[in-house]
Amino acid sequence: MNELLQKAVSSIIAAGYQLDTDAFSFLHTLPQTEDILKLTEEIIKKMKNTPEKPLFVSKDLLEEVAKETLLEEKEPPLALSSPPMIETKKAFHAYAKDIDADMKVIDDPTDKICATGAIEEYVEYFQDRFRKLRKILRQRMDAKDAMSISEARKAPVNSKVKIIGMITEKRESKQKIFLQVEDLDANITVLASPTKNPSLVEKAQILLLDQVVCVIGFKGKNDLLIAEDFILPDIPKRKPRRASMPVYATLISDLHVGSKKFMQEAFKRFLLWLNGKVGNEKMKYVASHVKYVIVAGDLVDGIGVYPKQIEELAIKDIYKQYQEVASFIEQIPDYIELLIIPGNHDASRKALPQPAIPKEYIEPLLKTRKVFSCGNPSIVSLHGVELLLYHGRSLDDVIAVAPNMSFHTPGKAMNLLLQGRHLAPIYGERTLIAPELQDYLVIERIPDVFQAGHVHVQSHGVYRGVLVVNSGAWQQQTEYQKRMGLLPTPGIVPVVNLQTLQVTSLDFTSPFL
Ligand code: ZN
Ligand code: FE
Repeated sequence: MNELLQKAVSSIIAAGYQLDTDAFSFLHTLPQTEDILKLTEEIIKKMKNTPEKPLFVSKDLLEEVAKETLLEEKEPPLALSSPPMIETKKAFHAYAKDIDADMKVIDDPTDKICATGAIEEYVEYFQDRFRKLRKILRQRMDAKDAMSISEARKAPVNSKVKIIGMITEKRESKQKIFLQVEDLDANITVLASPTKNPSLVEKAQILLLDQVVCVIGFKGKNDLLIAEDFILPDIPKRKPRRASMPVYATLISDLHVGSKKFMQEAFKRFLLWLNGKVGNEKMKYVASHVKYVIVAGDLVDGIGVYPKQIEELAIKDIYKQYQEVASFIEQIPDYIELLIIPGNHDASRKALPQPAIPKEYIEPLLKTRKVFSCGNPSIVSLHGVELLLYHGRSLDDVIAVAPNMSFHTPGKAMNLLLQGRHLAPIYGERTLIAPELQDYLVIERIPDVFQAGHVHVQSHGVYRGVLVVNSGAWQQQTEYQKRMGLLPTPGIVPVVNLQTLQVTSLDFTSPFL
């Protein structure tokens, strides 16, 4: 017999109790770790407290206590499908309540915003974008030695050239792609043709307007650069930082409170789950470890965001929409930290970067509980794990323009943003960008977790060590989405274990919770 098991059995006997055969064999099936001693301690306590003072420890009692004590510590295997949840009355012990929050806001654009929208500001804005991305590109071994475009223009015909520039124009004709590429003082025409390398045209197709890239090729006649390869800034493969303890963050977005399609019942179930009131053992285990709830924008549906929106609103007053949000978030347990950023439906300015939602709107939220309100995008660190939080408006543009993209796989479009190291590369489409003196949308710090929403399709994956999560939505398919053929996946919540960066997706749409 294992030493620990022997110890466990003798402590039960020493306390004056016997084990029946079933109970004895059940003890054998448990993992033979220190936990077994904790378990016997609990058993003895329980036996002492029962009024009948039984002599034998039964298997039933053992099972019951084992469930309580062992499940608190050990994470059950991850299962993506969630079994039906049943309300139980068993005491819920919130592990997260006993640990201190460790949250730092590393970057928030709110206090830095100063654009007035003058044309000159756009010049400065794009120059800063170029400089920042050139710096990132130059950190790469293969782009370090790039020359300026004016040098490349002077290079002899057929000589090798390597430049860094912003793509200002893109024309496709007969399987060839012509790009206009510009740096701070010159521009050049780049040709990508399939003659030398068939995959080169494909590579050029993914390039987005206003993106900064490195082009390798050779000098042609008449200031033409014949491309051989394109290099995006990208991110190096790396190991993400991790928390030293099992603490979880729940990533949500796109509540759209005020919309007739807001899924109130599912959201209430989510709140009950956070309180340990619904869910099976595994779900409760996860809930007990949740220390953070992050909302990546679109708390409300807003007013006048798109034509005829009023017909789809259940609450037609923006202040009342936020009041309604407050009545929900009030139910998030106090020991959980709540952080919000705005989305394009919120009452913040629409152009990126968006400052935090003005106090006059979110006052009802601030009155009910502690809320960290930041701008979009923001960077926060949770127990040393850095999260890049972004609503995701530009995903619309990227999905519309780049080949092989779909609303149903938002992760692919998010990966593309990481590759280009910019949150909103394309200027002048649906995503409004304010001409700040600095480009706060360049991804300068490589995050450990990249969270976006907006697309209303929940997804998660890993790109070069970065956990890429789209946090889905709480709104059923809208008329607009129906016309677009978009099938949202509302009510499914990704929960991240900050110690392992594993994601558990929980489905709150089932009424059996
Ligand atoms: Zn939304
Ligand atoms: Fe949105």
